[in-house]
Amino acid sequence: MSAPADADARRAIPPVICYPVDTLPTPDMALYDAARATLTKTGETVVPPRDAACFTVPAGHFFRITSVEGSQVGDLNLWHARDLSERFYSGKTRALHGTHITTGQRMWSGFPHLRPMATLTHDSLGWYGIDAYGGSVHDVIGTRCDPYTHALLSDGGQYHHCCHSNLTRALADHLGVSAAEAEPHIHDVLNVFMCTGFTRDTGQYFMKASPVRPGDTLEFFAEIDLLGALSACPGGDCSAEHSSDAAACHPLLVETFAPDPQTLIDWQSPAPNAYDGSHGR
Ligand SMILES: [Zn+2]
Repeated sequence: MSAPADADARRAIPPVICYPVDTLPTPDMALYDAARATLTKTGETVVPPRDAACFTVPAGHFFRITSVEGSQVGDLNLWHARDLSERFYSGKTRALHGTHITTGQRMWSGFPHLRPMATLTHDSLGWYGIDAYGGSVHDVIGTRCDPYTHALLSDGGQYHHCCHSNLTRALADHLGVSAAEAEPHIHDVLNVFMCTGFTRDTGQYFMKASPVRPGDTLEFFAEIDLLGALSACPGGDCSAEHSSDAAACHPLLVETFAPDPQTLIDWQSPAPNAYDGSHGR
């Protein structure tokens, strides 16, 4: 197909940022830093390799996901602890913050809520930035590895320990319901520690060996009461493949912490979104 005469001129138009961040309410990081200096550990959950586990975090508390034993990426789902219809919205988080998130950015819930569910308060991989391939860590662009895409691409192959299935089993066990009842609640994830990007020439989604090492941690402040589920991806460090038992896999540690309440006197859990919900009717 031939290009129009002004093709180069059209391509040369500079981009504009879709969502200017100057009107986005910014988290008070000094307040969070003061709170995180007073933390008392309240619990921990070890997520086994190629499996998932649920955990709860009250609003105003913190949780940390830490690499232990070896390089491992995790797939994180978040819900309002008492209303599973309010859940993490990776697409809008991506639109607001970019393809990967780090300290000072937030995980937002879907419509009609659209409010911060969690704020990232510490990222030991914050130094990584964007590498020469366009890769970075903690993405909100991938979805979660799942058995349906695996079957599609492997002539009907059956694999039961993709993050989608791991999260489904963990939520089913937590709620005391069947896998079929739990599955519709599973949603697109925050890919914790995963290093991903899009190829510049073909625009394809890529992954590469995660820079995460034992001791690396990603810390969150719970803005609302949270139920979380974390899967230790069967891809391990995602250097080669997922959806199989081929990769070396390791556990992930989730710890919860309570701050001194005095440090949060000026903090309020975010209200539901201000839109009136009438949609012009
Ligand atoms: Zn996975």
